[in-house]
Amino acid sequence: MNGLEEQQWQALRARLERARNALLSQLADDLDRDTDVRLPPPHEAEASPADNASQRTLNALVHETAAHTSKQLSMVRQALAKFDDLSYGLCENCGEEIGFSRLDARPEARLCILCQTRMEQRRR
Ligand SMILES: [Zn+2]
Repeated sequence: MNGLEEQQWQALRARLERARNALLSQLADDLDRDTDVRLPPPHEAEASPADNASQRTLNALVHETAAHTSKQLSMVRQALAKFDDLSYGLCENCGEEIGFSRLDARPEARLCILCQTRMEQRRR
């Protein structure tokens, strides 16, 4: 079992589905903007080096945003997939219950608080 009541399970699943939809439309927006900034300016030959530089910065920013959004999206998708095999709510490291209060704060959490803390300490 995952320590979640049916109602909590359903609520978390609904939240993740909403998050997925929001991220999907955000990603579409991000990519839209990506296309916009990729369009060459009307008088490209006359563009000053400074314009080109800020154009590059803008492109990098848009890419970063889109990359961040798609990373979040894949986390949410992974979490949703675990509803199907009923492993949602269990720590991927130790198999213990993650617990509703933690999932309520971070529905896409994959580790229990102990493993998460340990992993963060190891990274430091
Ligand atoms: Zn754990």
